[in-house]
Order: sequence, then C-alpha cells, then structure tokens
Amino acid sequence: MIPYGKQSIEQSDIDAVVEVLNSNWLTQGPKVPEFEQAISDYTNCKYAVAVNSATSALHVACLALGVSHNDYVWTSPISFVASSNCALYCGAKIDFVDIEPSTGNMCVIELERKLVHAKKAGQLPKVIIPVHLAGQSCNMKRIHELSLEYAFTIIEDASHAIGAKYQGEPIGNCIYSDITVFSFHPVKIITSAEGGMATTNDPSLARKMQLLRSHGITAVDTEMTEPSHGPWYYQQISLGFNYRMTDLHAALGLSQLKNVDSFITQRHQLASLYNQLLDRNLVTPLLQINNCYSAYHLYIILLTKPDKALHHSLVTGLREKDIIGHVHYIPIHLQPYYKDMGFEPGAFPNAEQYYQSAVTLPLHPSLTTEQVQYVVKTVHDILS
Ligand SMILES: *Cc1c(COP(=O)(O)O)cnc(C)c1O
Repeated sequence: MIPYGKQSIEQSDIDAVVEVLNSNWLTQGPKVPEFEQAISDYTNCKYAVAVNSATSALHVACLALGVSHNDYVWTSPISFVASSNCALYCGAKIDFVDIEPSTGNMCVIELERKLVHAKKAGQLPKVIIPVHLAGQSCNMKRIHELSLEYAFTIIEDASHAIGAKYQGEPIGNCIYSDITVFSFHPVKIITSAEGGMATTNDPSLARKMQLLRSHGITAVDTEMTEPSHGPWYYQQISLGFNYRMTDLHAALGLSQLKNVDSFITQRHQLASLYNQLLDRNLVTPLLQINNCYSAYHLYIILLTKPDKALHHSLVTGLREKDIIGHVHYIPIHLQPYYKDMGFEPGAFPNAEQYYQSAVTLPLHPSLTTEQVQYVVKTVHDILS
C-alpha cells in the first residue's frame, strides 16, 4: 500500500525521545523552549509559542487577536475544518473567501470584492486566515495591503508550509501577518507526533498565547494584581486551557527540524518527476507561483475538466491498486455542521468545482521513483 503521506523517522529521532524519557522532565522541561528557539531561528521570527496541535495554535491565535462574539473571521473553504473551527470556538461568525482555481489558495480578487461589500454592510472581518494549500504561500503581499486598508489582522495557517519560502524568505517570519501557525502532525512536513507552533513578532501576542496555552496562569510578579504570597504563588489572570506541548514531543520536533530542508528537497524531486511523467491532456498539477517555494506537503492534480464521476473513479481506482489517493479538501461550508449554520451549495463555486477535480497523489520522502512511475501509470490507465 502506498499512503498519500508518511512520516520519516530516523534513529536520531528515537534517541532524542529516549533521552527525554531518561531525564527529569517529561513535560515543562528544557526541550519545549529549545524547540521554540529553533523554530524562531529557522523562520526568522522573534517569538515562537509551542502548543499541542495546530488546532490549539489557531485557537489561541484567534483569542490573542481578540476574536470574540459578533466578530467575523474569514478563511478559505478549501482547508481542513480546524482553519474555521477556531473562530467558532471564540463565539465568532465564520465566512469564507472563494479560491483561485489554479493554486487552490484564497483568491485576492475575490477577497477584495468581498471586503468592499462587507464595508458597506458594516461587517468587516476582524481576522483573515489564509491557508497555504499544499505548502505554497498565498499572495501574502496583497492580503497584507488589504489588511491595512480594511483594518483586519492576519493569521497564516501554514500547517502545510514549514520550510516553504515566499519572496525568498521563510514562511513564519510574519512580515505580512500577525501570527503564523504550523502543524507537526505526522502527515505534515516534520512531526512531533501531535504538536503545533505559533510564531509572531509581537511580544504581547506571544505572551497572551503563552498564558492561554497554560490555564491563563502567571508566575511573573509584574503581571499579578497583588503582591505575591510567596514562592508557591501563581495567579490566574485570563481563561486559558491545557494546550501545552510535552518535552517528549518537543524533542522529536527538534530532531525532525534538522532534516526539514532535506525532506523538502526530496519532496521537490519527487514532485518534478510527477510533473514530467503525468499526461497534461488528462491532469494538471496545482500551479506553482514564481516567487513561492512550496514545502510540497501535498502533490495535488486537477482533472482537466471537473467531473464528479471521473473524480470518484480516479480516487477509488487508485485505492483498488493499493494507492491511497486522497482529496484535499471537502469544502468546509458543505460539511453538515456548517450547512446547519446556513451555508448552502453554490456559495463558493470555485471551491465546489475544485472539489470535483482535485486528487492528492502520494508524496513523502520515502516514496521511490518506481512507486511514482506506478502511480502515474495507474492514473493514466484509469483516465484513458
Ligand atoms: C493539519 C491541519 C490543521 C490542524 O493541525 P493539527 O496539528 O492536526 O491540529 C489545521 N489546518 C490545516 C490546513 C491543516 O492541514
């Protein structure tokens, strides 16, 4: 069986976790700050806050930016549900911006059109969450320009994009955003088993997220409302959660981060092999934009023409041949939970057409040339 994604674990990763097991700290020890420092260095961002998943990171990011009841948050309908659920956790209203069909990323022209309308209606979003689909950056420069004009803040959902670059600079540097979120789930580029990270250049956002991940509790005197009672004393100053990352997870993430660039190089080599071999009369890979260096979390192809039946037979046909093709993603607004909130089919036509056309082919560093050839041959056999 060929999975669509898979972690790469080496002996050094195993050793790093065992070292923590033999240490005094399983959680709240030195490995979490070490991992945060390493991500902050790697992404060229001032602060990195580790949490137990990207879902938690999105939640604390929204809260730190003040998302609350009656606020609007906008994201892409072509994403994992966590990109929009985070707004609902805060009691906010969610809406979506349709995608650009060639890249699957949030369309900046559609975004501007929607902002003009929202301004007239007095319903401008507080936060926009662009999602870097498959590891390729959205048009962050334009989204940032619009944020200045329409006064919203930006969380980049870079769950797919650790190690990716935009305009030659690392994703996560937050040049065009307030906060960037990464996921270290095993299907992603590097893994800490479960885990996530939020980067920001704003010290007060970083501190808010640190408090929110650990019950809203502080042990820092200057943050307290009355003098400390003694060395045992702490105060709860906001309503937080237990979203902490453990030292075991951080040690794995730290060890994996050493290989991130080579993982991505291997993903690029396999992706260009797919690009060479696939028949462009049948399928088109997602468009790669000039100033973007994708992390290639996913290798997504589009049918030349959206076709529900053909799309279905391609994914099922691959699976019959032990190739786990997948679909990223089912448009979020068509999920039953979201339909119950009032979203209807037809609301985001590009996303809905994309859903009848996009198929994720296997891509991970341990995939072999022969396996890529086998996948391509199977795709061609099914479609022709
Ligand atoms: C995986 C993923 C998430 C959630 O990541 P977890 O670490 O599993 O919580 C959020 N957004 C996107 C786009 C993802 O792919």
